[in-house]
Amino acid sequence: MTRLSAEIVPVTPFQQNCCILFDDTSKEGVVVDPGGDVERILAAIDRLGIAVEAIWLTHGHIDHAGGAMDLRDAIGAEIVGPHKADAMLLSRLEDQARMFGLEGAVRNCVPDRWLAEGETLQIGTHAFEVLHAPGHSPGHVVFFQRAAQFLHAGDVLFAGSIGRTDLPGGDHATLLASIRTKILPLGDDVGFICGHGPGSRLGVERRTNPFLV
Ligand SMILES: [Zn+2]
Ligand SMILES: [Zn+2]
Repeated sequence: MTRLSAEIVPVTPFQQNCCILFDDTSKEGVVVDPGGDVERILAAIDRLGIAVEAIWLTHGHIDHAGGAMDLRDAIGAEIVGPHKADAMLLSRLEDQARMFGLEGAVRNCVPDRWLAEGETLQIGTHAFEVLHAPGHSPGHVVFFQRAAQFLHAGDVLFAGSIGRTDLPGGDHATLLASIRTKILPLGDDVGFICGHGPGSRLGVERRTNPFLV
């Protein structure tokens, strides 16, 4: 039984948790949400000796997707996801960047393929279920590995907080519905990594997160 590891590389002024998920033994891996600082992501890939098979995107915000095209050009791996409902956001990343004073560091993104609810992605022998969890953005997806009880939650759920919904396409009621009907039912024991700050467990958030209790 091979083990899956996660290496976090904080990127962009938003301190986004770019995440390299990889098999400890085979060193097959993916990069989730390369928002920027691509040189640092490449250095981590090199240091860990990872053969990157794909770039997975949780959603179309600059801090998650802004470096995806540069990383694809550098390593030749396909960009997979998010759900096509974020196509508009991804086509306007350079506009988002100008709003935050980050022009030049970000490129508009065209994924090689979109993801839909219920698809399965692989890292070597490790299967990840794709769940469409809109609300923070219309096309947000999360990646769940049932065998390891591990979730990559993107910006849907944080330790002690939830995703903001004041950005274009955000909707608070939709986000709460995604968390209640799709995320929490995965089980209290599920540990998760999120887009910003430390991870947590779903049971801890169900009991103590002020936005959910
Ligand atoms: Zn976001
Ligand atoms: Zn974010």
